[in-house]
Amino acid sequence: MKEQYSWSVDNIKYGRGDIVNIGCNDCNGCCSCCYGMGDTIIQDPYDLFNFCSHMRVAGGQRVTFELLISEDGPWELSYQDGVTLPNIKMVEDGHCPFLGENGRCSIHPIRSGLCRLFPLARVFEPDKTLSYLILNSELGCKKLKNGADPVLISNWIGIEDLEQYESFQINWHDIKLRVSELCAKLSLDRAQKLRQQLLDTFYMKSYDRDFYEDFNRRSKVFNEIVEDFTK
Ligand code: SF4
Ligand code: SF4
Repeated sequence: MKEQYSWSVDNIKYGRGDIVNIGCNDCNGCCSCCYGMGDTIIQDPYDLFNFCSHMRVAGGQRVTFELLISEDGPWELSYQDGVTLPNIKMVEDGHCPFLGENGRCSIHPIRSGLCRLFPLARVFEPDKTLSYLILNSELGCKKLKNGADPVLISNWIGIEDLEQYESFQINWHDIKLRVSELCAKLSLDRAQKLRQQLLDTFYMKSYDRDFYEDFNRRSKVFNEIVEDFTK
């Protein structure tokens, strides 16, 4: 039976080379999707890499994961589908801390993967490929219902070497799934330790200049850690 996605506009899956009608004229005065996102803007290792590579705190010091999740930092840790991960911490009236007073994203060039994607959602296919859906107007872009311009998905996401980025996303998805499934079988104490190992391996230390190579190296180390937890 064909899978149905009640949260998609047309129930069609697209690839990075497809053209879809999601262009919203550079948001043009709208910032709806930077409000009320709760703990849903999850930050993956590539987002961390971007933050640490491009942002500095007062005095020119590099941003670290510890600073990002500190009490005054813009991230927080939350429990997401069986694992502990960082997400952007909404402030005051529920808006993103990176939303500028002019209603524009203040970190647009390094905004996180989920922000780049919106109003698309990723679908991780069983054959280890990645597809995209357009979120319906209830979940997605408020302007979609009023018509939108055609855009190429790879341009919309705007990440250099999208193919390599997608491979990273697929691997990262598999790692999280594996940890989540294993944690469900472990004692509370061991599950907590494994979740911490995930954070220690993929977030605690800044990434090398070649993110993908560093991520793949860490993945191999983490696979061995997971193996130990299965014994
Ligand atoms: S809801 Fe749509 S138009 Fe509004 S800020 Fe988000 S992507 Fe832009
Ligand atoms: S990071 Fe930028 S685009 Fe993403 S929710 Fe915050 S203000 Fe909006």
